[in-house]
Order: sequence, then structure tokens, then C-alpha cells
Amino acid sequence: MYPQIITYLLNFINYQEQVIRTLLTLLVGKSMFDKPLDQPVKQEYRKLQIDDLPMIETLEKLDYRVLLAEYLEKNGKPLKPVIRRKNAKVTVPDKLCCVRCGAPSTYLYANNGDKGQYQCKVCECLFSNKNRFAKEAILKCPHCHKTLEKIKERKDFLVYKCKNNSCSFYQKNLKGMSQKDKKQFKEDPQFFKMRYIYRQFLIDFKPLSKESPKKPKVDLSRLYVSPHTLGLILTYHVNYGLSARRTAAIMKDVHGVSVSHQSILNYENGVALWLKPYVDYYPYDLSDQFCGDETYIRVNGKWHYLFFFFDAVKKIILSYPVSANRDTVTAIRAIDEVLVKLKEIPDNLSFVVDGNPIYLLAQHFFAQNDIHFDIKQVIGLTNEDPVSTEYRPLKQIIERLNRTFKGNYRSTHGFGSEQGSVSFVTLFVAYFNFLRPHASLEGKVPVMIPELEEMPHMPARWTKLIELSQQWIAEQSS
Ligand SMILES: [Zn+2]
Ligand SMILES: [Zn+2]
Repeated sequence: MYPQIITYLLNFINYQEQVIRTLLTLLVGKSMFDKPLDQPVKQEYRKLQIDDLPMIETLEKLDYRVLLAEYLEKNGKPLKPVIRRKNAKVTVPDKLCCVRCGAPSTYLYANNGDKGQYQCKVCECLFSNKNRFAKEAILKCPHCHKTLEKIKERKDFLVYKCKNNSCSFYQKNLKGMSQKDKKQFKEDPQFFKMRYIYRQFLIDFKPLSKESPKKPKVDLSRLYVSPHTLGLILTYHVNYGLSARRTAAIMKDVHGVSVSHQSILNYENGVALWLKPYVDYYPYDLSDQFCGDETYIRVNGKWHYLFFFFDAVKKIILSYPVSANRDTVTAIRAIDEVLVKLKEIPDNLSFVVDGNPIYLLAQHFFAQNDIHFDIKQVIGLTNEDPVSTEYRPLKQIIERLNRTFKGNYRSTHGFGSEQGSVSFVTLFVAYFNFLRPHASLEGKVPVMIPELEEMPHMPARWTKLIELSQQWIAEQSS
């Protein structure tokens, strides 16, 4: 009798709980009881098809200097720059110049309130940042030479489409369809990509224009630890992946050195600032096989993406931007970091990446800047297409790199700040490229520096690496 009552009561409690959940969900309008996902959902991507570049017809350019001279001749006095009201709500950026005649910002009116339209006093051209390109050039379909129509505005790009029904590109695609496809196309035209599409990027990024290295403001000689202690800390925290707290504990228990975990993080931030220029500008000897992948790291309790690009043969990490978004801009930055390290861009350059369309968009972006390479996408876990089969080994190499990183990073319990995450990733890359022996390189480190090889142990190698990077920066700025 007794156990039966308990079972009954438990069931009743469960039932009540269900009722409460249902009522609450109805009340709030959404389920409050879904467990938050521990990791962002990794979704498979539909292949994005990228068409040839459009024909770009530039409009007749005017020269404001000629126009100003003509004005002077006609009116007997020069055309004055725009007089601006003090406390004007809308300002014209100093660097902005007229898209049509190149007149400097002093000749531009901020037109139309805060909608971002400008008018040139010299040539009367009206433009905004959004239609800026349209004022400079007309985009035409490379297949039928008709003007493209803007159909979508996305955060990073505009989408143009050729809507001409007799366009050869469209006609060819129509002819290539099976009866079944044709029927489906009639019912659901969105399902097929039939027409010529072009993406115009709005990304303010100049490829291959990396700034020269700057001397960090942190003075490492003022740290309250000896170089050897610093080397020990870096060895435990970065090489062995011990958390900052455990590193502090081992320093106390084994080496008798009192240092707080916060000081450890502060020291590492300082060291990372000095190592970063060295890591980023080192004249690496590279192959022509590169692969990239993203992994997740937590920064301030939020998931961020760490993009790794990597020389698959030499095992050298070449770029490692951290971003809150898995977006085209970051993919472009990541690839650019690789490109700047190449002495020249080889004809057959290619990158092996996952199926995310951001890489194709990045490829398109670079192609528009006359930098050409191939993107080989390895999609999903099974080899469904020949490209995936051929390049999977390369992809696996970078997945292994990601696991190595995760192994070292797990104990750091995410990063409390953006800077902390960049610091740790920088230290990891320095360790990976210069200090970590690699099984597939016959136990050698990817970048062999004789001064480091000579050192008797790892803490001494860290110290030497810091010294080398300080020397290098001093040489650069002298
Ligand atoms: Zn103008
Ligand atoms: Zn066309």
C-alpha cells in the first residue's frame, strides 16, 4: 500500500509540473524550459553558386579642378566652399569626396537630414554611401550586357540580378532543366538559381594593406617576476594547458613562488603584445596548401568564433582572428592575413575550408580586387562529392589543430575579455609555430630558429622567444 501511494503521488507531481509548464508557456508565448544549447548549432550550408564578374561600365568622370577653373572664368570670382552652420546636426566626413568630380569634403553639402545623402556644390551630383558605387559605375550582365537590377540589400553586400528573359545565361539554364525540374520551377521559382547574380560588397577593407608593426606600450622589464619564472608560467599555462589558477598553485607548491592567477593573466597579456608582431610578420617559408576552419571560444560568457588559417604542409598557423560573428568580414580578414604573408600570390593558390558560404563570398570579394584563388569546400562528414573526398585529409589536419587548441584552452574556462582571448590565442600560436614539436615533421617544430633550439629547456625557450621578438621590433622601428 505504502509504495503505491508514493508512486501515485510522484506521478501526480509530474502531472502538475506538466500543467504548470504548459500554462506558463501559454502565458509567456514561448517555451521557457528548453535547455540552452551548450554549443552553437553547426548547420550544413547549401552550396552557394558564384557567377562570373559583371561588366563594369564607368561613368564619365569630371575633374573638380577643371570645373572650378571654368567657374572662375565665367563668374569672375571663385566658387566658395560650403559654409557650415555651427552645431550642424549632420556632418560631412573629412575624407569624403565627390564620387563624380572628386571635389573635397569642403564642397559637399550634407543633404536630406540624417539619411546620409550628400550633394556636391561643384558638379551638383547627389550621392550617398549606399549608391556611391552606382554613381561611379553601371553594372552589366557579362552574358547579355543588360544593366543589372539591385534586388537585395544585405549587411555586407548588395545583390544584383540580370532580369533579362532572353539573357543567354538564363536561357542556357532553362534548357538544361529536366521535365521534373521545370515543373518544380513553375511551382517554386525561388528554389532554383537560374539567373545571373552579382554581389557588390560594402565592406570597407583594403586587401594586402597591412600596417607596419607598432612597438607595444607595455614594458616587460617592469614585471615583478624573473624571466625564468615567466618562462615557467608560460610553459604550464600555454604548453600544458593548465588553468591560470593551477599554474599559480604549481608555482607556489613546486617552485615556491607566490604569484596570483590574475597577475599571471596580466603578464601574459603583456607578453602577447610583444609576441604578436613577431608571430604576424615573421618571414615564414610557406607551401601552397592552406586550410581554414572555425572553432568556438567563449568570451565574456558569449560564444565567439576563432578562425584558424594554416599552412597544411609546414604546419604553421598564419591567421587567427577572433570574432563575435561568423561572417564574411572575418573570413576576408582571415584570408588576407594569409595573403600578406605570401611573397607573391601563386597562380594555383587554393584554400580548403568548410561548406560555409562566407568563404565563397570572401573569394568573390578578393576577385573583385583582382586577387584570385580557389576555394575548395569540404562539406559535411561524409564524402558526397569528389572535392570533399580529395581535400578531406587537409581538412582533417586543421580539425586536428583545432583539437590541439581546445585541449590547451579547455582549462582556461573561457575568456573574461576580448583582449584576454586574443592574448591566449596569440600565445598558443607562438607556441604552435615556434616551440611545439610536431609528429608529422619528424618531431621538429614548424619554424626552426637556431637560437631557440640551443636552449636547454622550455622556460628558457619562451624567454628567448620574447627576447627575439623584442629585438626584432627594435630593429623594425630603428
Ligand atoms: Zn562633384
Ligand atoms: Zn544577362
